[in-house]
Amino acid sequence: MSEKPLADLARSPSCADDYDPNSMSVEKARDYIKRYLSPVSETETLPVRESLGRILAASIISPANVPNHDNSAMDGYAVRTADSQENGETRLKIVGTAYAGQPWAGSLEAGECVRIMTGAVIPAGADAVIMQERVVQEGDTMRHAEQPRAGSNIRRAGEDLREGEIVLPQGHLMHSADLGLIASLGIGEVSAYRRLKVAFFSTGDELASVGQALQAGQIYDSNRYTLHGMLTRMGVEIMDLGAIKDDPQVLEQVLTQAANEADVVITSGGVSVGEADYMKQLLQKLGSVLFWKIAMKPGRPLAYGKIGAAHYFGLPGNPVAVMVTFYQFVREALLVMMGQASPPPLPMLQAICVEEIRKAKGRTEFQRGILFADEDGTWKVKTTGAQGSGMLSSMSRANCFIVLDEDTGSLPAHQLVRVQLLEGII
Ligand code: AMP
Ligand code: MG
Repeated sequence: MSEKPLADLARSPSCADDYDPNSMSVEKARDYIKRYLSPVSETETLPVRESLGRILAASIISPANVPNHDNSAMDGYAVRTADSQENGETRLKIVGTAYAGQPWAGSLEAGECVRIMTGAVIPAGADAVIMQERVVQEGDTMRHAEQPRAGSNIRRAGEDLREGEIVLPQGHLMHSADLGLIASLGIGEVSAYRRLKVAFFSTGDELASVGQALQAGQIYDSNRYTLHGMLTRMGVEIMDLGAIKDDPQVLEQVLTQAANEADVVITSGGVSVGEADYMKQLLQKLGSVLFWKIAMKPGRPLAYGKIGAAHYFGLPGNPVAVMVTFYQFVREALLVMMGQASPPPLPMLQAICVEEIRKAKGRTEFQRGILFADEDGTWKVKTTGAQGSGMLSSMSRANCFIVLDEDTGSLPAHQLVRVQLLEGII
């Protein structure tokens, strides 16, 4: 969709029938954000190792079969299945040895076999490998009582990848296995989208930075630290613009600078009911930004829009709400902008919650949870305890969110609940 509808929506929220900024479901907010995202288009060529965590701008096509020869899956003997006696022992002459990287050049005749190592090319004439533990060797002969089937213990040429096959599609997020997979094709460089630039800052008169002494009523700014961690894990280029006072002039200057220099601007604080008015005015002047009240806990206030060409996310100030809204809205949006058209969602599974859960209907809750293995080795979940949206320790102890739908109310202990995994990314 073009930018116009966003500007319209920001100016007069009533212009869309099914759009109520004061009661947005999590799903609907996600859908709206998705409509306006634009991926980066610039690409760069990178050595394979440097592409970890990056998104492919072009598919990787296999230039050859992998493996490129039929080869042995075992240390043993390459044989002709036609030579095997149906009942009783088969005696074969050992006519050579095939090593990985050093093929045996001949061709097997009736009554012959070749000693073969794992990874060695299957000699011409052979159609099976018998593992060495099943064989008795006596000088230059061996005997066995096997009835090997054609192809047994042989890794076929092209069984991993076929020549011309798309090995990894454009838009793929590179994992460790992919580095090896690409190397296995003999490819040394890949085309990736350039890194997304994300600028962020905290807002609030009450914020002090680490290293400063706290004055009366001040708190330390923790949101810039959690954002630093989450954004770094996502592999974007980060610009930390500090903690900014609730001063419209300074905010305007920092927001303008951020939007000019970055693809995405993220702020925390200043979008809650008491504070939204001047942020609203300021963002209306600088761009097209939607202010929402989301039916979720924590993370009710959220702003999303554009300032110039930059995408803007106004996250709540509460430290837990910052992390929850990041994982529920920002993460997926960043992946799309990084070049992944349909990013896979965070893994969601079901587990028995060993405790009762208190919850009001009418909003989605993301309670902080600990997924653990009980004495029987069954995975269960419990909450981290008190769930205040300012209590960052609850997030620090968690390895998952317990996701409770709008329609769900309080639950007794031992109910099946949905669990969104955070392990590995938090
Ligand atoms: P706000 O959304 O600005 O009204 O902030 C909501 C709550 O989050 C207030 O208690 C703020 O003091 C707190 N808060 C806002 N920004 C930060 C921050 N960067 N670090 C820690 N707490 C914050
Ligand atoms: Mg504030």
